Amino acid sequence: MELFSEMAKHDYEQMVFCADESTGLKAVIVIHDTTLGPALGGCRMWNYASESDAIVDALRLARGMTYKAAVAGLNLGGGKTVVFGDPKVAKSEGLFRSLGRFIQGLNGRYITAEDVGTSVQDMDIVHMETDFVTGTTRSDGSSGNPSPVTALGVFRGLQATAKVALGSDDLSGKTVAIQGLGSVGYNLAKMLHKAGAQLIVTDINEESLRKAVAELNAKVVRPSEIFDQRCDIFAPCALGAIINDDTIERLHCAAIAGAANNQLAEDRHGDLLYEKGIVYAPDYVINAAGLINVAEELRGYNETRAMKKVEEIYDIMLRIYDVSRESQIGPHRAANQMAENRIAQMKQVRSTYLRNGKDALQGN
Ligand code: NAD
Repeated sequence: MELFSEMAKHDYEQMVFCADESTGLKAVIVIHDTTLGPALGGCRMWNYASESDAIVDALRLARGMTYKAAVAGLNLGGGKTVVFGDPKVAKSEGLFRSLGRFIQGLNGRYITAEDVGTSVQDMDIVHMETDFVTGTTRSDGSSGNPSPVTALGVFRGLQATAKVALGSDDLSGKTVAIQGLGSVGYNLAKMLHKAGAQLIVTDINEESLRKAVAELNAKVVRPSEIFDQRCDIFAPCALGAIINDDTIERLHCAAIAGAANNQLAEDRHGDLLYEKGIVYAPDYVINAAGLINVAEELRGYNETRAMKKVEEIYDIMLRIYDVSRESQIGPHRAANQMAENRIAQMKQVRSTYLRNGKDALQGN
């Protein structure tokens, strides 16, 4: 793998390889872009098939965080840590403390958090060596479990999407099909039920389904049938890459708005949705509330302020749909454009400031 050419493809700033034989730590920290602020992004631990798979994943995820923070209006950049190893067997206090020391060495350019394969408890250990970590246990002044907050952000984004796709953000009497009733999906289902929506749900967990029938009067379908449901909005809250060549033809909905990451198998599937007139809520925008909440920790957590910022997802989604309509591009592309424009503008502001400083020094 040609590392520098990989970095050059999307303007990556920095990669840090962390190795500590004594604890077994092997990790890579990728900092994509710090134009808007320090790079924030979770720490993923996974048994990758190869080191290059792990690096490619870290690069992809770090860049995704830059876009997510930029569109959410946060003064943060994008980064990611990938720890090589099986989270079931390779975790230890030493490993996470060692990682914490590497993160501390970056002196705030990168801030970590829990992610797939790591837990709040692991982040508490990282915290013993560095303050540049968020999402530690609540007693430490953290923002706590992100899932209910993510669900609230998705609910607000779904309302904005309904306004554009159905002509009103009033969800009473509307049908929403939810794929996945996990930590986010079930909380979202509760909010939709309260708002008067009819629910069609699926999951591989029978217990969640039974609960949804009893508590939310939901109609249950098999996992393979969720794409064929006639509904107003489809809310993917389980897996990635579920909008693909196989599923796209089966959808009978006016819009897609859900929490799952990387819903589009490829960008061209977003274009196909746009051509078909199905309004697609870009996943990294509608599911950004967890990040917004965690970012609040950096300022000293204040729940009211955090929730106000989460509510803004509604307006951000509407702006994206405006850009999509005006530029005649899919909302997934409109969101990317908004992120890139914001970063480019801030780069310009900085270079103007530097130029002014230089001019002053030269007496111009
Ligand atoms: P979760 O693991 O709690 O829930 C996922 C649910 O999907 C589970 O109930 C699982 O049984 C179900 N599921 C798995 N395979 C399925 C299938 N084939 N068909 C139907 N259901 C299936 O995860 P979560 O925290 O609720 O996150 C859901 C999605 O949202 C994920 O893609 C996650 O990356 C994304 N997301 C979550 C957060 C957050 O704050 N938790 C933030 C941003 C994005």
